[in-house]
Amino acid sequence: MNEDEFSEWYHRMLDENKIVDIRYSVKGMPVYRGMAMFIIREMQRYLEGMLEENGHEPVYFPVVIPEDTLSKEGEHIKGFEDQVYWVTHAGQNLLERKLALRPTSETSMYELFSLWVRTHNDLPLKIHESVSVYRYETKHTRPLIRSREFLWNEGHTAFATKEEALKNIEEIKVIYKKLIEGLLCIPVMVNQRPDWDKFPGAEYTIAFETLMPDGKTLQVATVHNLGQHFSKVFNITYENEKGEKNLVWQTSYGPGFGRLLAAVICVHGDEKGLVMPPKISPTQAVIIPVLFKNVDGTAIIDYVKKIEEKLASQGVRVKVDYSDEHPGAKYYKWERQGVPLRIEAGPRDLKEGKVVIVRRDTGEKKSVPLAELDLAKTFSEIEESMRTKAKKKLDERKFKVKTMQELAKHAGEGIVEAGWCGEKDCVKPIDEAGTILSISNEEHECAVCGGRGKKITVAKTY
Ligand SMILES: [Zn+2]
Repeated sequence: MNEDEFSEWYHRMLDENKIVDIRYSVKGMPVYRGMAMFIIREMQRYLEGMLEENGHEPVYFPVVIPEDTLSKEGEHIKGFEDQVYWVTHAGQNLLERKLALRPTSETSMYELFSLWVRTHNDLPLKIHESVSVYRYETKHTRPLIRSREFLWNEGHTAFATKEEALKNIEEIKVIYKKLIEGLLCIPVMVNQRPDWDKFPGAEYTIAFETLMPDGKTLQVATVHNLGQHFSKVFNITYENEKGEKNLVWQTSYGPGFGRLLAAVICVHGDEKGLVMPPKISPTQAVIIPVLFKNVDGTAIIDYVKKIEEKLASQGVRVKVDYSDEHPGAKYYKWERQGVPLRIEAGPRDLKEGKVVIVRRDTGEKKSVPLAELDLAKTFSEIEESMRTKAKKKLDERKFKVKTMQELAKHAGEGIVEAGWCGEKDCVKPIDEAGTILSISNEEHECAVCGGRGKKITVAKTY
């Protein structure tokens, strides 16, 4: 798909499936509708469960942050100042302190961390919240992908030692991979960002990204090693066993739920519409009674109810389509919504005590005795094959190149592996072709000057 076709398809998906409505009168702030909220809540529940099992406590911090708090860490405020929404008035009165709508919560939380952390017994401190954040994006906004208000989960920590902070980063990588590759069946690349592209105030940033059908990468989550940058300015210290005061080591991280939803839509979708991973699909199976004109359908309807009951008792989110539309129209409608399984039941199936099940992801159709109908296994087969298919699509769009000409050609098609010598002059043409996602320690000839360099990955990004 080229850029225009993809954009047209994406907006049609959002619209036809009532995912978001972009007609709300504040630009860059769409309305999330039923299907979006169902999927986001499933992601949220799953993620929060894993975080809390890992020792994170849920919190809720106010949406506003005073200007002096937000400005405390120099790099941090520099990175966000052009994107902050400010509350300046309360009623008719000008506020004494301007209040920012949180663009992220490091500063507001760490002000409290300095009160919460006293001794080594208060550590580790791990908290998380699922909230919306506000950033006045100046780049072209796109629903779910780049909005001025977006939903995410943010995790924040404080540790006694650097080693514990680094271990936490590894644990979060595993948790995010379970969310993205496990629950959502989306292949993900984990890249440490170049120094100039890290989170403002961090030592370094690790980004999780996937590839969209138009060849651009989409960053869906980040993890930051904050070192002691924030603990210094917010004076977050603990007393160790010997009574000495030390600064804590910190990390922060978050996936964006809107971007993850966009990735689910785009990575799995096809020309017929959405293809939903079973665990997050609002409807997991739809039953279509196959009725014939001039034939009494009572027995079929009873049979369909029996199937529905059986699936509901297995915990399947099931619907029956009783509408009087033509079967073809019904198939089209449910396929468009990405419902993982369609179950057809007609007079012959009833006679044989069978049902026909049709997979949305492959179109595979088979007849199964009703007594043996157990969808858990089928759903895990669907998940596995969705993962494999998506991974294959991503791998097909990885390019290893030597020259700048090849780099420029492939940067719009997928992820390019090339080399860069580290010189400013050589980064210019690379930057024009795409964004450097990561720089590795592996040796690789520079694509521009041919000199000794390191391996880099480059792509066009959202
Ligand atoms: Zn060079």
